Amino acid sequence: MTARTVALVAHDHKKAELLRWVKQHQAILAPFKLVATGTTGKLLSDETGLEIHRYKSGPLGGDQQIGALIAENKLDALFFFWDPLNPAPHDPDVKALLRLCSVWNVPVACTPATADLVVTSPLFNDPSHHRFVPDYGK
Ligand code: PGA
Repeated sequence: MTARTVALVAHDHKKAELLRWVKQHQAILAPFKLVATGTTGKLLSDETGLEIHRYKSGPLGGDQQIGALIAENKLDALFFFWDPLNPAPHDPDVKALLRLCSVWNVPVACTPATADLVVTSPLFNDPSHHRFVPDYGK
């Protein structure tokens, strides 16, 4: 069975927090196919040695590339530590990414507290668990 895909994204002021969180849960995350926006992915792979596919940097379209994965039903979970205290130049992309998670019922964790619960859930890597994917054709 192919590994499920997990995306990791953090805004600049949240990158240290995501790095800490990834190190804490590295053993759980390692078997997944990991993808990230550019700068986040480089930091995480340099600091942890994890293999992470890097898309473009968020402000240059990386959020939209991860959004495209969601639209194609190729993403199983998103850990997105966005910054609630500083405006981002790509704010519309941030909103769009969160919106697509709701459209397609993709689990998304935006804080370490939620991320802890998601990643330690017995369902997280249970091959028999399939999230409901809405059928908008009906
Ligand atoms: P970055 O992008 O990982 O390239 O910094 C993250 C974001 O701002 O969405």
